Amino acid sequence: MEIGEFQQLIKRLYYEKDLKRGKEKTLLWLVEEVGELAEAVRKNDLNSIKEEIADVFAWLVSLANLYGIDLEEAVKDKYPNVCIKCGKVPCECDER
Ligand SMILES: [Mg+2]
Ligand SMILES: [Zn+2]
Repeated sequence: MEIGEFQQLIKRLYYEKDLKRGKEKTLLWLVEEVGELAEAVRKNDLNSIKEEIADVFAWLVSLANLYGIDLEEAVKDKYPNVCIKCGKVPCECDER
């Protein structure tokens, strides 16, 4: 499944609920899931890390849906085939 297909799936499943909940509460859920991911990473619990990464991504997609943002397009624009700062693969920038 590609990002765009997953975004459509999440829209079919949850868009009405997402609309009712609204952008700010959806962001809070995303942050909550990031917190759960942080706990799973702290415990080094691989099964939980996998689950929470999926949760974080799904809530991120819900938030993108509420803003009408095409996530696949957003990712391609921001992360083309080379590092947008140094133009290298892999990135050779000093920071991070
Ligand atoms: Mg979770
Ligand atoms: Zn770079």
